[in-house]
Amino acid sequence: MKKIAPLFTFLFLSLVLSAQQSVQTELPYKMEELTAPKFLKAVEKAGGVCIIPLGILEKHGPHLPLGTDIFESREIAFTAAQTEYAVVFPAYFTGQIFEAKHQPGTIAYSNDLMWKMLEETCKELSRNGLKKIILLNGHGGNTSFLTYFCQSQLAAQHDYTVVLFRPEENPKYKNEIESLKKAKLDGHAGEEETSMMYFIAPSLVDTEALRSESGLDQNRLDKLPYGYTGIWWYAKYPNHFASDVNPTNKKLGELLVKSDAEELAGLIKYLKTDKTIQQLQEEFFKKANNPLTR
Ligand SMILES: [Zn+2]
Repeated sequence: MKKIAPLFTFLFLSLVLSAQQSVQTELPYKMEELTAPKFLKAVEKAGGVCIIPLGILEKHGPHLPLGTDIFESREIAFTAAQTEYAVVFPAYFTGQIFEAKHQPGTIAYSNDLMWKMLEETCKELSRNGLKKIILLNGHGGNTSFLTYFCQSQLAAQHDYTVVLFRPEENPKYKNEIESLKKAKLDGHAGEEETSMMYFIAPSLVDTEALRSESGLDQNRLDKLPYGYTGIWWYAKYPNHFASDVNPTNKKLGELLVKSDAEELAGLIKYLKTDKTIQQLQEEFFKKANNPLTR
């Protein structure tokens, strides 16, 4: 026994060390976890692709955490990066959220700041070799802002490209997702979001508070003809909650994450080898700088 013990200890330690080495040699996709030397490898492995998962700090009904959108967009990014490697930018929470300023916990930065934060984040990523930037939006209130931000990339020439991820109905998961859904009205903090949070971090879903507020449409501006006005959301959902039913369905949450993550992985893969967007931008600016020259 005495002779076997050191050999056993040696074998055990070797196993532990090799397990640790295999963990250490794996390249993290979360930017904040990379060392500077590993960051160089990450930029190369990612083909210059970086995902910025955008969320916000705002009320999500009475039952979900303020950072729900941050959790959701990051989970989709992490899942995609495990299939198709890309660098994932840390938790990002500046965006458009004026419509929830009446609710506790909303952090609503000014227009100037939210614009500058995103613009300078893109510029800094590009300066660090991450020149193919994917905006992954987890927050409904950001939709117009991010589309306009992408359009505005044509205001001045730069050496990077910005693409807004736009997931579509995924035929692989469509039927199963539909069979699990119960809500007729499902929007902010509703069945889908509640299920996603329950899948990502169940302990953060306050199931006791689930039905403590109404998420029904109050239709207080439905007589406004042919018009859009900023108060439309408050007119409909003053509790910042839009759903008629919000059960917690872990499987539904998992499928929703997978559905988007697979499409995101497809976008990452495309962008890794793509040169067309940058070439078109260069061609455009060559002409835009001399519009009378043909
Ligand atoms: Zn949300």
